[in-house]
Amino acid sequence: MSSLSIPPPACLLRPLEVPHRYLFGPGPSNVSPRVQASGARQMIGHLHREMLEIMDDIKKGIQYAFQTQNNMTIAISGSGHTAMECALFNTVEPGDSVLIAVNGIWGERASEIADRIGARVNTIVKPPGGYFTNDEIEQALCEHKPVLFFLTHGESSSGVVHPLDGIGELCHNQNCLFLVDSVASLGGSPIVMDKQGIDVLYAASQKVLSSPPGTAPISFSEGACKKIFNRKTKPVSFLLDMSWLANYWGCDGKPARMYHHTGPISGLFSLRESLAALSEMGLEKSWTQHNRTAEHLHKGLESLGLKLFVQEKSLRLPTITTIAVPPGYDWREIIAYIMKHHDIEISGGLGPSSGMVLRIGLMGYNCNQANADMVLMALRDALKHCHKSKV
Ligand code: PMP
Repeated sequence: MSSLSIPPPACLLRPLEVPHRYLFGPGPSNVSPRVQASGARQMIGHLHREMLEIMDDIKKGIQYAFQTQNNMTIAISGSGHTAMECALFNTVEPGDSVLIAVNGIWGERASEIADRIGARVNTIVKPPGGYFTNDEIEQALCEHKPVLFFLTHGESSSGVVHPLDGIGELCHNQNCLFLVDSVASLGGSPIVMDKQGIDVLYAASQKVLSSPPGTAPISFSEGACKKIFNRKTKPVSFLLDMSWLANYWGCDGKPARMYHHTGPISGLFSLRESLAALSEMGLEKSWTQHNRTAEHLHKGLESLGLKLFVQEKSLRLPTITTIAVPPGYDWREIIAYIMKHHDIEISGGLGPSSGMVLRIGLMGYNCNQANADMVLMALRDALKHCHKSKV
């Protein structure tokens, strides 16, 4: 007889069950067999020489994916939000003025994080589907004199890919750092960090990189490092403090790498493998692949009588397509039908785009015409069988 009052949970005495799903929503994406296999390798120590070499390889892979020579380039232990917090916690001090472009949920989230730091948060706002002209951005920079400007490259909630050219220069003219979220766009839509004058860029493992969630590439320019390493106050997060992380990732020039936290070793194995896959394919080929697949999908959607949410072609995010919810249908029923009958995940809107759109993501390992055709077939079936009210 056990002396314990809480018995082992019966559910845990049954084997783990994970259904097969086609993940054609805004993320995570399906993981390729080679990335899966790399994540299943046996553990090594987080500070073993071989692990440090794997981290160095990851750093080079991120420099390639971001197109940057920044030495301060690492992978954060955590999801895209963790990288977002790392970027803001390190570059912004209480009382600093920041400017945030809000054209979907990610600007809203960045504002929330900056507000928690005690920054003076100023926003420029557009409805979902909108974007900002360089003139509008310049005007707001002159008005608010921020230390940092936040912009989302791939707005996964609205399906907009934001133009980036010229904005870095506008920021630098105003002595302001340029922070860009590329979680939903990296590898699927062109972004060239150094050429575009981006000071802080972050992404996440689970979209085009098609790794499991839990690691998040991030890079800081020299200008950003100057701000970070001349702060008057310590960042509120110890875990995300770049002066510690710089040492853990061998970016501070010191010979010894100190224990800071235990990194997600299996996640880093997977991330290395997906960066290897991207390097083998080549960034430009990956951009083309995402563009071609998106165009094929868009044509198919239009031939089903569906309306793309983003009108202007050049603003359509190739990784995640948004469709206006078809009149007369309940978007929840469509999603549920496709999941039940086709084992395919697609999703509804998020934050300000909630109830307005359906979202289809074909990223990385999932990005090909056969998958686009599969989701088109499922949608055709759903439109035939889901309830349609008179409009
Ligand atoms: N930014 C963008 C553009 C995203 O699409 C997401 C995830 N959907 C995030 C940030 C947050 O990433 P995570 O869910 O990995 O925290």
